[in-house]
Amino acid sequence: MPTICYVMVFITGLAVGSFLNVCIYRIPRGQSVVTTPSHCFSCATNLKPWDLAPVFSFMWQRGRCRYCGVKLSRQYPLVELLTGVLFVAAVYRWGLTWTAPAMMVFFSMLIVTAVIDWRHQVIPDGALLAGGVLGLPLIYLQSLDKLKWGVAGFLAAGLLLYLIAVISKGGMGGGDIKLAAVMGLYLGLKPVAVALLLAFMLGGLIGLALLVTGKKGRKDAVPFGPFLALGALFASFAGEQIIAWYAGFRGL
Ligand SMILES: [Zn+2]
Repeated sequence: MPTICYVMVFITGLAVGSFLNVCIYRIPRGQSVVTTPSHCFSCATNLKPWDLAPVFSFMWQRGRCRYCGVKLSRQYPLVELLTGVLFVAAVYRWGLTWTAPAMMVFFSMLIVTAVIDWRHQVIPDGALLAGGVLGLPLIYLQSLDKLKWGVAGFLAAGLLLYLIAVISKGGMGGGDIKLAAVMGLYLGLKPVAVALLLAFMLGGLIGLALLVTGKKGRKDAVPFGPFLALGALFASFAGEQIIAWYAGFRGL
């Protein structure tokens, strides 16, 4: 594909990332993500369209609100850049197929749920529902087979985490169960297994590191959503290869 296409996809990703920031800020506070105009969270001045230019406005204003000077979180440009990069990666990997837009929706949902879970220890149902509802037709358009594997992944991942939640008595939240199920829908049965395995390994390692370094106590909850999202991102790009490698490995 010509470079200009990637540039346009990147700019689209930045703009979507800007919307994801709005979702990340407002959903946990129970505010509407569409009707309220964008405003500074500190001085409440309604922002002009040029104040909302992703990344660039943050750089021009040196990370501060233009009206009251309050320091803005670095999370804003980071989320925008990450969304832009993942959108380009999706188009690079899957080209002009229905898989590319499906994965863009999936990645957007992962970013919103992971950041909200990291900051507020909650995974909002609305973001999962939006991801699921938008995902179904996009997955069906890829192929009926993909949808069948997706439904199988949805049920298997949801059930597995539900069982872990029951056995561990609260080590896993309802939001984690639902997020894993939606991951299964997008990834399919086998890749979601890769994603979950990786999430447990990463979550275990980092949880242990936080415990050992004393950053978190034994009773502090470490949100699991970000690890699920990382596992899902990895499995999206490399899941099929890992499964093929594992099958070949066992074949020897
Ligand atoms: Zn302000």
